[in-house]
Amino acid sequence: MTNEKKIKSIIIISLILIESFVWIINNPDNSWNIGNIGGADGSTKKLVGQVNNDPQYGNVSEKPDVNERNQNGSFGNKEEPAENDDNRKQLLKEAAEKGLLILVNKENSVPPDYKPDDLKAIKYFAPDRSEASRYMRAEAAEAFHQMVDKAAEAGVEIKMTTAYRSYHFQKNLYDNYVARKGQAEADTFSAKPGQSEHQTGLAVDVSSPSVGYQLSNDYGDKVEGKWLAENAYRFGFILRFPKGKEHITGFQYEPWHLRYVGLTAAKEIYEQGLSLEEYLQQNDIESR
Ligand SMILES: [Zn+2]
Repeated sequence: MTNEKKIKSIIIISLILIESFVWIINNPDNSWNIGNIGGADGSTKKLVGQVNNDPQYGNVSEKPDVNERNQNGSFGNKEEPAENDDNRKQLLKEAAEKGLLILVNKENSVPPDYKPDDLKAIKYFAPDRSEASRYMRAEAAEAFHQMVDKAAEAGVEIKMTTAYRSYHFQKNLYDNYVARKGQAEADTFSAKPGQSEHQTGLAVDVSSPSVGYQLSNDYGDKVEGKWLAENAYRFGFILRFPKGKEHITGFQYEPWHLRYVGLTAAKEIYEQGLSLEEYLQQNDIESR
């Protein structure tokens, strides 16, 4: 190992230790009330309580301008609305062929060398975040930018915190948790390498000033979280880990974790109140 690599390793390990320390300090009474169902995003989701109650962001009530939607209820993505069942099936087939409906969870892994070849930089990101994770697949990145722009018009500020994560990034994170806490405990709060859909370049964690740009469980109660829950589907995104579906997704409620699936699937998942697992099964869609 070169000196440079050694220094990099020490810095990474130090950052992980500091993050964990902050987590412990801030959450002495945190309880795991959903059994072994863990969080997908590691300890960052534990930073609950560091809420910045800035009234500037706490009282935003302006609704998005729904008149600008196109027929699909979306805000101008390229995908056209499904006109009939054949058309709908074709749109879903195309989305699946592009890999937009890939299923990654505790039963469905992606291989270590899986890396999208069309990663594009996200231009709206929270301060002090890793530059390496600032990417999404091109179509998802474009949709994300459209969504953030439209939210801003409604006075809602949304920023990316983490998007693409390589297998090795996730592996380092997970291995470190296992070394310190043991695998059983690590599995309650961190996705294993290959089991994080951040590796697909289709997932993005978001945050806002109202929660100090942290990944907070009460984000869903904030104006930004509510805006996303109501509007993300119009841009092809779903809330991947919704409340009440923990036993199906295997992960706790995460109001900050969005997944791009394309307009047709997102709209149907939103309207039918499904998890991605349920939707793929009901529509007999291959998860690869
Ligand atoms: Zn996430």
